[in-house]
Formats: sequence, structure tokens, C-alpha cells
Amino acid sequence: MAEDCIFCRIAAGEVPAEFVNEDEHFVAFPDLHPQAPVHLLVIPRTHVASLDEAEALDPAASAGALAFIAATARAAGVAKGGYRVVANTGPDAGQEVGHLHWHVIGGKRLGGMA
Ligand code: 5GP
Ligand code: ZN
Repeated sequence: MAEDCIFCRIAAGEVPAEFVNEDEHFVAFPDLHPQAPVHLLVIPRTHVASLDEAEALDPAASAGALAFIAATARAAGVAKGGYRVVANTGPDAGQEVGHLHWHVIGGKRLGGMA
């Protein structure tokens, strides 16, 4: 757990968030400022700063990441209509929270990619 990391605190249950999906390695919860009808964040329970540090993730977690994201989208009801998965990484992508996370966005027809 990293000091002063809001997502570590959410994963630890210290800051309230509604887990819409969770397993040994990941939790998923709604974004505080949703950009679409469905806007979830998937984070590893352990602190990894960004996708650029992917190698620091437990290999078992890495192996399960895509399936966890897909299961989260299915649980949120957006799998049929479609959805977008985004991992903002570093300054040019506007990453604000320094704990690896994937946005899972859907529930409407999404605009083009920047
Ligand atoms: P980034 O720009 O780093 O990819 O996105 C960070 C996201 O985390 C933003 O969409 C922001 O709304 C969300 N966020 C920041 N703090 C909190 C929080 O305390 N709780 C939740 N649920 N989402 C947060
Ligand atoms: Zn963290």
C-alpha cells in the first residue's frame, strides 16, 4: 500500500466505494466523475504506478487482468452494446491518479478517440 494513494485506500476499504466486481487481484468500482452512463475503474489491489510499470504486477494478476475487465463489463451490462477500455499512462495521456487503472466506459455510443 502506497502512502497517500487514493486507490490503495479504496482497495483496502478505507475509502468507501461500491465494488461492482472483485477477485483476489482486482477490484472494480464506479468513477467519481462518470463520463458515460457506465464508467467503472478496474484497479489492482497492489500498488503499481501505471501501465508503464506493468512488469511490477504479480504475474498471476497480469494473467487474469483481461478476463477480469471483460467480466466487469459483462456484470455492468455493457458487453452486448459495446464498451471502451482506457489506461491513461503518464502526462501526455493526462493520468491523474498514480495507481494503475483501466477505465471501462459504455452505455452510450461513444465518440472518437483523441
Ligand atoms: P486518470 O486521468 O488518472 O486516468 O483518471 C483518474 C480517474 O479517477 C478520474 O476519472 C477520476 O474521476 C477518478 N477518481 C479520482 N479520485 C477518485 C475517488 O476517490 N473515487 C473514485 N471512485 N474515482 C476517483
Ligand atoms: Zn496505490
